[in-house]
Amino acid sequence: MLRHDVVVVGAGLAGQRAALAARQAGSDVAIVTKLHPLRSHSGAAQGGINAAMGAEDSVDTHIYDTVKGSDYLGDQDAIEFFCQSAGPTVVEMEHFGTIFSRSDDGSLARRAFGGAGFPRTIYAADRTGLALLQGLWEHLSTEQFTLYPEWDLLRIVVREGRVQGIVAFDRTRGEFAEIAAKSVVIATGPAGRIYGRTTNAHSCTGDGVAAAYDAGAFLKDMEFVQFHPTALLESSILITEGARGEGAYLRNATGERFMSRYAPHVLELASRDVVSRAIVTEVAEGRGFSGPYGGYVHLELMHLGKERIESRLQEICDYCRNFAGIDPVTEPIPVYPAQHYMMGGVGTNIRGETNLPGLFSAGEAACVSIHGANRLGGNSLLETLVFGKEAGNAAAKYAASAPATSLRDADLREAVDPLRAWSSRSDGEDPSVLRTEMQATMERYAGIYRNEADLLEGLRRIRALKDRFEKVRVVDSSRVYNLNLTDAVEAGHMLELAETIFVGAYARTESRGAHARTDYPKRDDAHWMRHTLAQKSSTGPQLSYAPVAYTRWEPKERVY
Ligand SMILES: Cc1cc2nc3c(=O)[nH]c(=O)nc-3n(C[C@H](O)[C@H](O)[C@H](O)COP(=O)(O)OP(=O)(O)OC[C@H]3O[C@@H](n4cnc5c(N)ncnc54)[C@H](O)[C@@H]3O)c2cc1C
Repeated sequence: MLRHDVVVVGAGLAGQRAALAARQAGSDVAIVTKLHPLRSHSGAAQGGINAAMGAEDSVDTHIYDTVKGSDYLGDQDAIEFFCQSAGPTVVEMEHFGTIFSRSDDGSLARRAFGGAGFPRTIYAADRTGLALLQGLWEHLSTEQFTLYPEWDLLRIVVREGRVQGIVAFDRTRGEFAEIAAKSVVIATGPAGRIYGRTTNAHSCTGDGVAAAYDAGAFLKDMEFVQFHPTALLESSILITEGARGEGAYLRNATGERFMSRYAPHVLELASRDVVSRAIVTEVAEGRGFSGPYGGYVHLELMHLGKERIESRLQEICDYCRNFAGIDPVTEPIPVYPAQHYMMGGVGTNIRGETNLPGLFSAGEAACVSIHGANRLGGNSLLETLVFGKEAGNAAAKYAASAPATSLRDADLREAVDPLRAWSSRSDGEDPSVLRTEMQATMERYAGIYRNEADLLEGLRRIRALKDRFEKVRVVDSSRVYNLNLTDAVEAGHMLELAETIFVGAYARTESRGAHARTDYPKRDDAHWMRHTLAQKSSTGPQLSYAPVAYTRWEPKERVY
């Protein structure tokens, strides 16, 4: 059997940073990842990473912006620690080899981002995630650790009240394996593929969050799903907020810069929930454009000039030209909101610890919570690094004193038997059918605007899909790279998470951040200034609630 002190699941920015910290703390570390590390979704991040660094900006303003952006659901102690760590984190990444864009005077270039009181988003053109991932990977590669590339986490084994290790599937050979570990760090990233329209890569299926839930961990604030206002129509490829940060306008079909009616002070640079709702409202009230892919509005860059557009937004130019056949230098970009980020995830404290001894989490898979009900752009890349490091340190510390762990043959069988049953069936449904229906259900019933009737209907549909999933069938019998099998595993994970989104959203009878209920349009601090916790039971998610941590920032009405 394979054995390590610390197993990090996921090799995006959060996983790599956790692995680096655990290794530097002296642990024997392994990384299990279903993609090559440099293919992780972190590499798709375009716009930048936030840090209050110059004399004109302040850490306190960053804290305040994040608290306000979270609609007062973010934990203020965690946010303070997070914003204070930002500057040192960016400097460290530069020392690791990340090449950031520079201003004419040689200082780090910064751009404006939504919901930020100061332009504090540091970037590497519109390829910031890739630049960070590359630098971190180069640095991590100088350390000794074991990599299990293209291995899928199937199950986290918990016995005697603590983590014993994991069961995984090696895609490249079609074999199952047990890895004993004292600490397991879940850094499996986003779950956006639960939705049909999403900016997330196909690999973003929430696997680690579902495995933690299955093992008994609390999931926190799952009802808060962020939609990015500007995704390219049809493909939903992200058009970074950096475009608006550089000065792009949003216009409806009458030519109006409609954000002046929704956020009169900052217009296009209001926070994402506000801008997304504005676009949906414009289209719903007949002021959008319409076409074969539904309603949309225009994002205009033309007035910025060819040189600026092509130097600061190179990838955006490529995406528009290659995927939409339009040139953003001379034409407006058709955009509509798409799912972009999960504020919820595995519930952790500042050190990445969960309610299960030996289980840690960081990055988009986790919920600390610093984003509360709405994440600010540029805060997520920072989160992966700040809390990845914390989780790696905590995992190493725990492993140093935890008793030896053991896995049994039965642990492997419990994880693998269902998968064998899917493959030996002579009839049943293809996972892709269930996945497509789930995505349509999420779009229709758990989108930007929600109400009781829709949420109940959506939940009913997801539960019916879960029943049908019991008879899912894998027709491909090949061992090597059996994507039909991994599709089925991922569909099962996403259905579990979809249910937690509906149950949490139905219970929360208020509107806060990204959770907008038309039947409860106001924020209700008296009843709902609290985190939702979901724990798995035989009858579905059991909800409980936890208080929000306060330090200095009194809740106020949120206007931009
Ligand atoms: C298009 C796009 C643009 C973005 N732009 C920005 C931006 O400009 N600024 C910003 O702050 N944020 C941005 N974000 C958000 C931010 O990039 C992500 O939240 C963050 O990078 C997630 O990092 P992560 O390490 O948690 O996960 P990822 O980088 O997604 O890594 C997840 C890892 O988990 C592994 N994994 C997943 N499932 C399994 C499994 N079952 N078994 C084994 N391994 C598994 C994968 O192989 C991968 O290595 C953007 C997001 C998107 C989608």
